[in-house]
Amino acid sequence: MSADVLVVGAGSAGCVVAERLSRDPQRRVVVVEAGPVVPADDDSRRLDRLVLGSPTHPAPCARWYGDRPPLVRGHAVGGSSVVNGGYFLRAHHDDFDGWGGPFDTVTISQAYDELDGWGNGGTMTVDSLHVPPPVVRSLERAWPRTPPRPWPGIGVQRVPVNHRGGRRWTAADAYLDPASRRPNLDVRPGSPVGGLLVERGRVAGVRLASGGELRAGEVILCAGTLGTAALLMASGVLPGPLPVFEHREILVRYSARTRPEPAPVLLPSVVHTAGGAEIRLYADDFARFIQGARRSSPAVGVAEMRPAQAGELRLDGDRLDVHLAPIGPVDDAVARVVEVLSSADLAEHVVDGSVHVDPVIGTSQHAWGALAMGERTDWLGAVDGVRGLRVVDGSILPNVSSGPHATIMMAAIVIGDQLRSL
Ligand SMILES: Cc1cc2nc3c(=O)[nH]c(=O)nc-3n(C[C@H](O)[C@H](O)[C@H](O)COP(=O)(O)OP(=O)(O)OC[C@H]3O[C@@H](n4cnc5c(N)ncnc54)[C@H](O)[C@@H]3O)c2cc1C
Repeated sequence: MSADVLVVGAGSAGCVVAERLSRDPQRRVVVVEAGPVVPADDDSRRLDRLVLGSPTHPAPCARWYGDRPPLVRGHAVGGSSVVNGGYFLRAHHDDFDGWGGPFDTVTISQAYDELDGWGNGGTMTVDSLHVPPPVVRSLERAWPRTPPRPWPGIGVQRVPVNHRGGRRWTAADAYLDPASRRPNLDVRPGSPVGGLLVERGRVAGVRLASGGELRAGEVILCAGTLGTAALLMASGVLPGPLPVFEHREILVRYSARTRPEPAPVLLPSVVHTAGGAEIRLYADDFARFIQGARRSSPAVGVAEMRPAQAGELRLDGDRLDVHLAPIGPVDDAVARVVEVLSSADLAEHVVDGSVHVDPVIGTSQHAWGALAMGERTDWLGAVDGVRGLRVVDGSILPNVSSGPHATIMMAAIVIGDQLRSL
């Protein structure tokens, strides 16, 4: 069997690309996804719950890529949008200063508008569903407030969330499912791809892990930054190592005077600083949201959102080896968080003397940038020097100084629209 376009991975980007390209009834689009379909009423779809399992016992909708630090990805129709935190914020305007091709200001804005529909929720049904708990509202008062607007600014902003009735509204709900009745769109869950078929320097299709081949005029890799890198290196299409960027995070922990009421979402509010940090005003101890996580203490996070240094992705046998870069300079933001948590304004919530900086440097599970557009791919995701292949997922972001989810979907809309007219 042969498709015009074969999309590998029905994640945040893959669902959009498949929907856009199958609008043309003459184009036969096949989507192969390693993971299962997760029904909308499954417990794991609740926003106040992250069901991921562990590196040794992964949940059915999660795939783990390592345990030092633990890296996890969605493994389901909908990809990481099935398991993520639901934070759906645009990147900053100036992130796009160096972007080229179709990524001009108007096109970028229109694609974000489609997704977050500033005022009407958009295809991803986005809103700030929550009044943050009292401790978060007290923390918010320590920084200037950004006026409500679609684009993030410097200061405090309530986090927009993609949900319906407190359940994650995924890329599959918004894009793939509405298109699934099209006779020219064939979606195959539970179909992991084992490698790419390369013939005379051209990618001609894929090998399925279960055996057999699928051939296509063009293969679009949407397997996520880690999944796509693993496939490219394992197939010998690109030699490793590849770079990888991450929003690394330091946690400032404290003991709470009283246990807060259960909150609908882990991260109701963030502060963006002029120095490129994101201060995360978490609602509570992560263990109240992440199934199986060890009970610890509540925390405020400080993430470096404009990292200068890349980590590395290598293949070790058939295992992807991920080395993340260390966190860059965020000392000023960490010191400010310690000062605020220790101040009289927070005394009602924070046990005196309990504030401390956790020595473990965490990740945000945002890995991006292994095949940045303008460097290793063109502005439509075509991989330099490899015919028959594109990459459209987190791999191709050159930079992103908010959570990447909204921006990956925005890029998939812009590229999908361009490819429709090629
Ligand atoms: C736990 C967690 C929390 C997060 N929270 C947030 C948040 O709150 N806000 C935010 O902005 N970002 C968040 N992120 C990041 C964000 O969700 C991802 O960056 C984004 O969804 C990635 O989109 P993608 O299209 O690149 O890949 P994905 O959505 O990960 O899709 C890749 C798909 O490809 C499939 N696949 C992989 N390999 C193969 C193969 N060999 N064969 C077939 N299929 C394959 C996978 O199963 C998956 O479905 C979070 C991520 C995680 C894991």
